[in-house]
Amino acid sequence: MERTLAILKPDCVRKQLIGQVLDRIERAGFRILALRMTWLTREQAEAFYAVHRERDFYPDLVEFMTSGPCVVMALEKENAVADFRALIGATDPAEAAEGTIRHQFADSKQCNIVHGSDTVENGQKEVAFFFGEGEIVRNRVGVM
Ligand code: GDP
Repeated sequence: MERTLAILKPDCVRKQLIGQVLDRIERAGFRILALRMTWLTREQAEAFYAVHRERDFYPDLVEFMTSGPCVVMALEKENAVADFRALIGATDPAEAAEGTIRHQFADSKQCNIVHGSDTVENGQKEVAFFFGEGEIVRNRVGVM
């Protein structure tokens, strides 16, 4: 089983799409191991997207990600990272395939509803960025 980190970004929360996007995620076979609503601090957003810090869009991205609450979750599934990237679609909704979450709900390349880890290694790192292993274990108790 593989883990990936998903973030329902501030535009998703603002547009009251949490339920619809979670429905898409669960119907695609992902198990939610941990989930929390949070409002990222500037420091958290800068650290989470540090790989992009030299990019032109970095200041706008940090501004956007701290513009309101978001929902962070750890997901599990076989092939979770690649399957979740396929479910959400390309970064730019104009390029996202029909049937993907970003094609259905996103407004722009920046305001694209959802984050998904891009590699298995980053999936593990990003889950650990938001969740202690204890939080994940507790949430798994009761899974049949
Ligand atoms: P992702 O892996 O599909 O989320 O895309 P990236 O890792 O390349 O970029 C991270 C996030 O930065 C994206 O999800 C967007 O929210 C934002 N972003 C990426 N490219 C652009 C861009 O060209 N302009 C703006 N304004 N935001 C961008």
